[in-house]
Amino acid sequence: MNQATNIEIDEQQRMPLLFVGHGNPMYAIEDNEFSYSWKLLGETLPRPKAILCISAHWETNGTFVTAMSHPQTIHDFGGFPKELFAVEYPALGNPELAFKAKKLIKQTDVQLDQKWGLDHGAWSVIKNMYPKADIPVVQLSLDYNKSPQYHYELAKELQSLRDKGILIIGSGNLVHNLRLVAWDKMNDQEFGYGWANQANDIFKNLISEHNHQSLINYTSLGKEVQMAIPSPDHFLPLLYILALQKDNETISFFNDKAVMGSLTMTSVKIG
Ligand code: ZN
Repeated sequence: MNQATNIEIDEQQRMPLLFVGHGNPMYAIEDNEFSYSWKLLGETLPRPKAILCISAHWETNGTFVTAMSHPQTIHDFGGFPKELFAVEYPALGNPELAFKAKKLIKQTDVQLDQKWGLDHGAWSVIKNMYPKADIPVVQLSLDYNKSPQYHYELAKELQSLRDKGILIIGSGNLVHNLRLVAWDKMNDQEFGYGWANQANDIFKNLISEHNHQSLINYTSLGKEVQMAIPSPDHFLPLLYILALQKDNETISFFNDKAVMGSLTMTSVKIG
């Protein structure tokens, strides 16, 4: 008899990494090419045990991780139709994963949060990926006091979660300048200003070349990039995903389009 049979096998295949451009909150409930690709991801990725999401929409003083069993659906936007406010995404939390993330991160004393929940950066995408809400979701916040380099180093400490069936998703937008949105192009399938497309190409090239340092030091890149990142919130989730990339992993882009002039939906799958 094999004496090893009662040893718990926790290791499974390494989960891929996702940076997802979430864009307009309405994409959460619209049938369009973006929401379709999110659905497809849910159907084709290895099934995760839980999701750890770093959303552009949870910025805090210090670093927090959601640790409640039943995270609320947060409708953190204004001026949208009632049907978007009516969306509930009842995925469970995973206090055990929250505690594990807290223990793994040595850069700072991560606080266990009982108040937040799931903001639209998380649920608009994950609701389409896993419509049955049967995968627990935990969010990790972005400390707004910290540098891009700090976020990149902190993210590295989460590496072992990938081998334990945890899908890590960064949710933001590579190009995201709300002040310059072309509201009259809201319903166009694709529309990007020249500078937005140029900045997006710069990001894609640096990602493909594994040139993480130039992306971390994005404030030293050209004018297009400064217009694309007027504030770091939607860009930092990308750095979390890149920090976890292994040397030999393949990179693919999807939803690689500009919308409303000053946003790009360009998303990255690693592994
Ligand atoms: Zn957003």
